[in-house]
Amino acid sequence: MNGEMSGLKVWVRGIVQGVGFRPFVFNLAESLDIKGWVKNTSSGVEIEAMGEPEALRRFVETIRLNPPALARIDDLRTEPIPSNGYATFEIHESQPQAGAFLPVSPDVAICPDCQRELFTPADRRYRYPFINCTNCGPRFSIILDIPYDRPNTSMGSFKLCPACQADYENPRDRRFHAQPVACPVCGPHLWLEAQGEKLAEREDALQSAREMLKNGKILAIKGLGGYHLACDASSPTAVAELRRRKKRSDKAFALMAFDLETIRKHCLVSDEEARLITAHTAPVVLLNRRAESTVAAEAAPGQATLGFMLPYTPLHLLLTELAPGFPEVLVMTSGNLSEEPIAYQDNDARQRLGELADAFLLHDRPIHMRVDDSVAR
Ligand SMILES: [Zn+2]
Ligand SMILES: [Zn+2]
Repeated sequence: MNGEMSGLKVWVRGIVQGVGFRPFVFNLAESLDIKGWVKNTSSGVEIEAMGEPEALRRFVETIRLNPPALARIDDLRTEPIPSNGYATFEIHESQPQAGAFLPVSPDVAICPDCQRELFTPADRRYRYPFINCTNCGPRFSIILDIPYDRPNTSMGSFKLCPACQADYENPRDRRFHAQPVACPVCGPHLWLEAQGEKLAEREDALQSAREMLKNGKILAIKGLGGYHLACDASSPTAVAELRRRKKRSDKAFALMAFDLETIRKHCLVSDEEARLITAHTAPVVLLNRRAESTVAAEAAPGQATLGFMLPYTPLHLLLTELAPGFPEVLVMTSGNLSEEPIAYQDNDARQRLGELADAFLLHDRPIHMRVDDSVAR
């Protein structure tokens, strides 16, 4: 330590957990040769930083002005402290504090990097329906308690395999301290069941589910924050049958298609609407329908608009993937009878949706918090 070193304590409040904040602070500290530590607390993030005064000034300024994209800083306080002899910068274990309040990030739509890996045959998470990273994936829907750390999420029961553990511990990896990190070896899996019987697992389950959708069947699909009911949106019979079973007289169904290009074949999409529909909250956006759209009239009776959303999880991307003969557009409506809340617990869903769906596409990552699809205009 030389005489130029000073110390600073920093407290940050806001949406700062589950958004890659600690890895961001870690890498920033390393780039500025700052020593000390960062940790999650029940009220936000706490940092002790030792370094040259100019480095500390840039450190705080960067945190304030250029935090991770998904973070929201409500308050940042600093206080000079004596310089300690830290030799490294570390991420410390979290310290729960009773009674503190902490805002949690909403679930985040799959990011472009994970999307690319999902469809790259050489990637070890190729076609893995639960791929995620620090920049995307489940947050709110899997949280049990704060601080937002893996044991406090529904991923706590999935023990990381050595390869995922290495990703999780590598500060230069996109999955550094990503709590829901998983892969086909150690993470959740899909299966397809009907009348309580397992019909297929993993990729076979996905392909069988797609085959059923192609053949006009109605599927209950366990998603991120609840269950959806899905069917081929271009089949008047399938859509009318779903409407009959759901007892939903004439309200429009939400629709999903693989990409924006496909949606443009069915609707007019302005720049503003394109920005909205690709937002990381993936809302349903009401779009003016094209006359030539093949979406069945029964999907939105008497309406000039269609409510579209993009696939916001890897599972939904795999489910809607474009293929010859496969429906371009799926109905993706909340899994409930009209007026009832959306189902999000497995046994509740089996009971309540058993009469509505021909089969269930399920997985073993529990949903702890119910999240409905949001609608934007
Ligand atoms: Zn990602
Ligand atoms: Zn793994």
